[in-house]
Formats: sequence, C-alpha cells, structure tokens
Amino acid sequence: MSVLVTGGAGYIGSHMVLELLDAGEKPIVLDDLSTGFRWAVPDGVPFIEGQCGNQDLVSRVIRQHGVTEIIHFAGKIIVAESTSQPLDYYDHNTSQSRNLIDCAVKGGVKHFIFSSTAAVYGEPKANPVTEDEPLMPVSPYGRSKLMTEWMLEDASRAHGLHHIVLRYFNVAGADPKGRAGESCTIATHLVKLAAQAALGIRPALEIFGTDYPTPDGTCLRDYIQVTDLARAHLAALIHLREGGSNLVCNCGYERAFSVRDVIETMKKVSGINFEVKTSARRPGDPAAIVASNTRVREKLGWTPLFDDLPTIAKQALDWERRLHNRRAHGSGTKE
Ligand code: UDP
Repeated sequence: MSVLVTGGAGYIGSHMVLELLDAGEKPIVLDDLSTGFRWAVPDGVPFIEGQCGNQDLVSRVIRQHGVTEIIHFAGKIIVAESTSQPLDYYDHNTSQSRNLIDCAVKGGVKHFIFSSTAAVYGEPKANPVTEDEPLMPVSPYGRSKLMTEWMLEDASRAHGLHHIVLRYFNVAGADPKGRAGESCTIATHLVKLAAQAALGIRPALEIFGTDYPTPDGTCLRDYIQVTDLARAHLAALIHLREGGSNLVCNCGYERAFSVRDVIETMKKVSGINFEVKTSARRPGDPAAIVASNTRVREKLGWTPLFDDLPTIAKQALDWERRLHNRRAHGSGTKE
C-alpha cells in the first residue's frame, strides 16, 4: 500500500512523512514547493513536484505508484491572507481539492484523510467546542476548507470514498528528534514568532489585542504539538484500514493558553526576556477556541505524547535555531 501525502514538503506534511516512515509505511510526496521545501522530504521518499489539482499528473502518480491512500495537506493556511486573496484560497483549498478527490475516486483510492481546521467553527459560543457545534466559518480560509469537507461527504455517499476529516487547532512545535519543523519563509504563527523573537531574528513580538473577554485580555488557543497531530493521522489511517467508519475529529489537547502564556513560556525556556509590544486586534481572530478531543481519543484511540507547552516551545526554539544556522551557513531555504 502506498500513501500519497500532498503538501508533504510543508510543515505538518513533513512530520507526517516521518511518522509514516517510522511506522514502516511507503509515503510518496506531491508538493508544488510554493511554501514547502524539497530538503524537507527525506532521502528515498519519491517526490513529485506539482499541484494536487493537476488531474493528469495526480492520475499518473496514483497509477504509477499504486496509491491506495491519500493524506491531503496541500493548501493555503493564512487566515488574514485569505481575506485579501479569497479566490486564491478557493482555488487552492477548494477547486484543487475537488480535482484531487475526483482523481481519488476514479483511481480507486480506498482511504482519504483531509486536513481541515478549527476555523470551520468561526467564533464558537462555548468551549471546548465539539464536532457537532454549528459550522459558521468567518474567513474565506475556513469556508474554503469546509467546502472540501462537504465534497468528501458527498463523494463518500455517491462513490464510497472512505474518509476522515481532522480539524486542527493551533499546531506548533517540531519533531522531537530535530528532523523537521516549521520552516516557512513568511512566519505568522505565534509560537514560531516567539521563538524568532527569543533568538533575535525579529526585534520584538507584537500581541494582537489585549482587550478580549479572557482572563488576561489576550486570545485563548489550544496548541497541539505537530508530531501528536501526525500521530492522529496515522491512527485515522489504521481506523479506516480496519473497516472503521468515516469520521470528523477535532485535534487539540482540550487546554487553553493565552498569547501571554505562550510568550512567558518562550521567555522561560529560552532564558531571554525579548521585547513585547501590544497592538490592535488582528481581524478575524476569535477570542477563544479550544477543542473537545473526546472523539479523537475514543474513536481513534489517540493519546497525546507532548501535551506540555514548555516542551512545545523548546522544540520550536531548537528548530528555529537550527533553521537560522542553516540559512547563515548558506544552505538557503530552497534547494
Ligand atoms: N498572535 C499575536 N501575535 C503574533 C501572532 C499571533 O498576538 O505575532 C495571536 C493571534 O492574534 C492569535 C494567537 O496569537 O490570538 C494565535 O495566532 P496564530 O496566528 O498563531 O494562529 P491562529 O489562531 O490564527 O490560527
């Protein structure tokens, strides 16, 4: 059985590839390298450069590599960018996913796992949010992902495509063995930015909004470590192979940390008191969003290994240092 990982040169996808290799699976990576890196794909893993919506290419890859399962990460992920470039998001996250699903159906792919997002809930009325909460995305990003969830539901009903949708909360940290991490050139995620501030790669960290209705006035999020998230995908794959039903599962730790909590933790693990500024709210940020994770634990038998904010911060910091040295020594970010 071969597992096609779209977006396998990106942040979460590259951790998925490592998890698959560690489990003795045979991953194949399809990535257009728009935000991912060729060097992030381990030696020996077949790599195809291209878009997941290119039906000629994807059909050929499915045929040539005997692909039986797809884990679909490729897509655009920056909420703020999605509000200024909505059609790009609908292209990458919705139209191209449609083409990929079409190829999966026509190519006889058995199992499909889709990387969705907590953004499909919008601003939840209560936390922790369960999978049965109303779906009211407030950004083109959330909508573009939700439409793909719906396409999978319909393709499953019509064509029997077995699938699992995983809705990620805030993904952070890096491979505990130091083999992978978040490498994007335009960083927007809090934990990575805090690591960069600690290392002096950026002069200060900005807190977007201190007037939220939360205990310290900053937003509350549920930060899930990236290897734990990849492990949830592996559990999903096994569930489907064993004949388990289609599922939609939140992926988070059911724990809330504020922006200030993250900053304090990064200061503590790095030992560096970097500068912090406060500024206005960032458009589209919900005040608080925390996963209910009962379903992923009960249905997929998933248990977290890295549910510890200092551990996550330390992994992000170590990876950022490695990445910085790599760039400083001329390895660049693209190869
Ligand atoms: N955030 C912040 N400063 C930054 C980046 C993020 O205050 O430089 C806040 C952001 O407003 C949100 C939280 O950190 O409340 C997590 O944001 P991130 O972009 O990491 O993930 P998101 O929740 O948007 O998916």
